Amino acid sequence: MKRITLLGATGSVGTSTLDLVQRNPDRFCIEALTAGRDFARLAELAIAHRAKLAVVADAACYRDLQMALAGSGIEAAAGPAALVEAARRPADLVVAAIVGAAGLPPTLAALEAGISVALANKEALVCAGGIMTATAARTGAALLPVDSEHNAIFQVLGAPETVAHITLTASGGPFRDMSLAEMAAMSPAQAVKHPTWSMGAKISVDSATLMNKGLELIEAYHLFKVRTDQLRVLIHPQSLVHGLVEYIDGSVLAQLGPADMRVPIAHALAWPERIATPVARLDLAAAGRLDFAAADRVRFPALAIAEAALAAGGCRPCVLNAANEVAVAAFLEGRIGFLAIADVVADTLAAVPDRCPESLADIDAMDALARRSAHSFAAHRSRG
Ligand code: NAD
Ligand code: MG
Repeated sequence: MKRITLLGATGSVGTSTLDLVQRNPDRFCIEALTAGRDFARLAELAIAHRAKLAVVADAACYRDLQMALAGSGIEAAAGPAALVEAARRPADLVVAAIVGAAGLPPTLAALEAGISVALANKEALVCAGGIMTATAARTGAALLPVDSEHNAIFQVLGAPETVAHITLTASGGPFRDMSLAEMAAMSPAQAVKHPTWSMGAKISVDSATLMNKGLELIEAYHLFKVRTDQLRVLIHPQSLVHGLVEYIDGSVLAQLGPADMRVPIAHALAWPERIATPVARLDLAAAGRLDFAAADRVRFPALAIAEAALAAGGCRPCVLNAANEVAVAAFLEGRIGFLAIADVVADTLAAVPDRCPESLADIDAMDALARRSAHSFAAHRSRG
C-alpha cells in the first residue's frame, strides 16, 4: 500500500490523481490533501478519500475548513507553514500538483524528508532545480516526472553518455497557426481552450504562448542532467508522441500515448510498476497521421525568452517564472493583452539584476523582486 500526500488536490492534475487512487484502493491510500482556497471541495475530497489531514493554503479559510470537516475525524490546518508540515508527514509519495512557485516550499520539504515526489509542479523546478535535485540526491528521494513530456523521456531514457538529444513535443496551443496580429486580439477564454489537453488556466495560457515549453526545457535540464544544447522542441499538433530521445548511434526512442494526463500520472504513482488505467487507447489508424514542425520563435517569443534564460542560468529562470506568473494572471484578469505576456517577462528580465541564487532565501528574494517589477511593467502595458 502506497500512502500518498497530494498537494493541489482540487486542481486538474489533483483530480486525475484522485481518480486513479480511487480506482486502485488495494494499492494507494491518501495521507493528506491540500488546496489553495477551495475549502469546500477540499473537505469533500478529504472525506471521500479518508485523508488523515486536509490543509488549505489560504489561512483565512481555516475556520470554514474546520466546519466542513466537523465530525469527520480529519485534522484541518491552514497556511503556508501547515502546507510544508503536510508535505513532511510520513508518506510513501508526495504528488506535487500545486500551480506556480507557491509549490516550491512544500515540494522541497518532502524531498528534504526523503519522501519521493511525483512532480507536476514544474515551476518549482524552474525556480530551484539545482537545490531540488541536489536535495533529492542527498536524501535518496526519487523525483518522478508527471509532466507528460518528461514522463515520456523518463520512460525511454538510457545511459547518459549514449544520449545525443532529448526532444519535447508541443501541440503548438490554440493559436498555433495565427499571425501576431490575430493573436493580439485573443481573449483569456480563447487562450485557455487548449486543442488537445484539458488543464488548469495558468498552464493553458502558458501553452498558448509556448512559455510552457520553455519552462519544460528548464524542467528537463534539471531532471535529466543534460547540456542545454542537447534539448530540443518539436511542434506536434496531435499530442500523441510526447517525447523522443535520440542516441549517439542514430536510434530514436519515443513514447506515445493518448493525450490524457492519467497515463503519466499512473506511471509516476505506480513506478517502478505499472497499473491499468481507463484511458481511451491510442488508435494510430484512426489518428491517420502524425505531423511535426519546427517551433516559430518570432510568433512565439516566450519560447525564445525562456531558452535564453535557461542558457544564462543562475537566477534567470526564477525571474522568468515569477514574471510569467504575474503576466499570465494579469492577462487572465483582462488587464493586459495576450502579446503583452511575453513583453512583461522580457521587460522584467531586463530590469532585474542578474545574481546567482545559492539558497532558498536568495530564490525567495529574487522571486519577490521579479514579481514587483513585473507588476509595474504589467500596469504600464495595461489596456486600462
Ligand atoms: P490547477 O490550477 O487546475 O490546480 C492547481 C492546484 O493548486 C489547486 O488545487 C489549487 O487549489 C492549488 N493552489 C493554487 N494556488 C496555490 C497556492 N498559492 N498555494 C497552495 N496551493 C495552491 O492546475 P493544474 O493544471 O492541475 O496544474 C498543476 C501543476 O501541474 C502546474 O505546475 C502545471 O504546470 C502542471 N501540469 C499540469 C498539467 C495538466 O494537465 N493540468 C500537465 C502537466 C503539468
Ligand atoms: Mg507538459
